[in-house]
Amino acid sequence: MLDREGLDATPVRRVDALRADVTAGSSSDGGMITDPGIRLLTKIGDFVEPLTRFDRGHLTLESSQHVNVDVVARQVFRVAFETIRSEGNGGLPQGVMLAADAAAMAQLSEGQLAASRAAVSARLSAWAAEHGERPAARPAVGDCFTALPAVGHVETCAPCQGAGKIACAVCEAAETLTCEACEGRGSNPCKACNATGDVTCATCKGMKTVVTHRERKVHDEDNNARIEHVQETATCGSCNGTGITRCGKCGGRSAIICATCHGQKTIPCASCKGAGSNRCETCGGEGRRHFTAQVSCAIRETFETNVRTPDPETTSVLKGLDSIDRVLGLAATYRSAAETSADTLRRETTAVTPVTTVTVVAGGSRAQVRGFGPQQDVLDYRNIAGMLLSDDLGVLEEALLATRLMPPRVTDAMHGSLATVLASEANVAIAENAAKKDQSGIASRFRGVVTADYITWAGGAIKTAMTRAYWAMMAKGPVAVLAIPLILMPIDLLVRGQGQGGRLMALLGVMLMTFFAALAAHYWVVQELQKKLAPEGAPKIQRIVDKLNLTLHWLAAAGVAAAVLTVVVASLTGLLLPMSPPVIERP
Ligand SMILES: [Zn+2]
Ligand SMILES: [Zn+2]
Ligand SMILES: [Zn+2]
Ligand SMILES: [Zn+2]
Ligand SMILES: [Zn+2]
Repeated sequence: MLDREGLDATPVRRVDALRADVTAGSSSDGGMITDPGIRLLTKIGDFVEPLTRFDRGHLTLESSQHVNVDVVARQVFRVAFETIRSEGNGGLPQGVMLAADAAAMAQLSEGQLAASRAAVSARLSAWAAEHGERPAARPAVGDCFTALPAVGHVETCAPCQGAGKIACAVCEAAETLTCEACEGRGSNPCKACNATGDVTCATCKGMKTVVTHRERKVHDEDNNARIEHVQETATCGSCNGTGITRCGKCGGRSAIICATCHGQKTIPCASCKGAGSNRCETCGGEGRRHFTAQVSCAIRETFETNVRTPDPETTSVLKGLDSIDRVLGLAATYRSAAETSADTLRRETTAVTPVTTVTVVAGGSRAQVRGFGPQQDVLDYRNIAGMLLSDDLGVLEEALLATRLMPPRVTDAMHGSLATVLASEANVAIAENAAKKDQSGIASRFRGVVTADYITWAGGAIKTAMTRAYWAMMAKGPVAVLAIPLILMPIDLLVRGQGQGGRLMALLGVMLMTFFAALAAHYWVVQELQKKLAPEGAPKIQRIVDKLNLTLHWLAAAGVAAAVLTVVVASLTGLLLPMSPPVIERP
């Protein structure tokens, strides 16, 4: 709704509504408005009309000026070459031309570069002859340069001399190292037997004999039996009287196999993992390295504009056109000339840019608005809507003085002036944003048709008026829904017989009833306000009330009030009319 571009083909009869056509003396040309000032005023009217409650008859054209401003755009295309060098492991990649050595490669590459450079001038001239005077055309790399294959050479890797691997310095290429645990013997002397293979016999402790104690029954002369203890010495059976036995630890071999090398006497070299050599890091194990050089081409483009006009605002807008497409977009006509020298193409485009400036009188103030280009693009509407609408806002502010929020008091004058203010689409949009912190979005949407100051001013006044109107309407009756909790008193007395469960259900039921009644009250208030402020249905009051958070505030307040009041009523009922204690009948 706010974006109303491209309506320059407005028929003349619409312009008849303008008072301006008399002063500016418009003429018609097959139904087209030819006077640029009238055309711009029509465009302004198209934009401003739906935003305000005023038709374009409230805009008066005081003066208009139409000039053609030359925007001179300079494009420079410079062809630049670069030799990209790379290197890597192994042989040449696919498609690279092989040179004998570094010197040969350098020579070939320089030859390619020189040939490419030499060809640029002619190719660029040829391109310019065909496309030079089309300002949007840009030379491509392919127009000035034919890609050439990279050249390269291959060298044997110096550190590994082409082997791709380097002898291990730790094992000196032997792949293994002497086992340190056994000093290369493969076994270690047995400590249990001191490497003799024999140990002192454990049974006779080396004594070769064993002494045994025995009891013997002897008879004396009187043939009386008695027990006699005797010691007997015998040869040790464990060592057959030698005093030594074979060492159990080494099995008599006097040495134990090395646990580290398992008897191998050597262990694999950890540094080369037993390979005897390591991969050459210089060539990644390839044994050779390649080096390449490739000529590449790029076109660097610069752009600048020059504007020939004494008007600083026009200069600032037209200088801001940062591409040839934007310059051409605003040009009525243009002419381009291109010239080439060596590797550079320069093109100068003079774009004739129509700039219409009108001084518009609206609501007693005047504003200067500029339209740029054949479509008369307006970047800033200079507060024209704000000028038209500020009187309405003044009336609303005046009316607000006789009203207040609490206790609510509003007047017909306030309702009337609020209705007038809301008849403008711009004011409605401002009202819907008034509760937001950041209003920059709405300011840019309006393209200057109202200023940031107006947005702040109108937002504040409409929000105050709307809030007072809402609460006053609520106070006129609907607020009584908050008394609903009182009905809990008789209900509570009725459901007493059903115990605590019944009483709790009654409590919740009354709370819910109060809340839904509050919701209904809100819709009634909104309906009444709609009838008062915009009986024809636009704008939607519901939407404005929602966006100003009034709905949220009422429902939150009503919800809390419903809960608190219901609980208060419930406890008061219990306090004032206590349950009678059960009568105990005595027999
Ligand atoms: Zn190497
Ligand atoms: Zn090694
Ligand atoms: Zn060992
Ligand atoms: Zn031993
Ligand atoms: Zn023994």
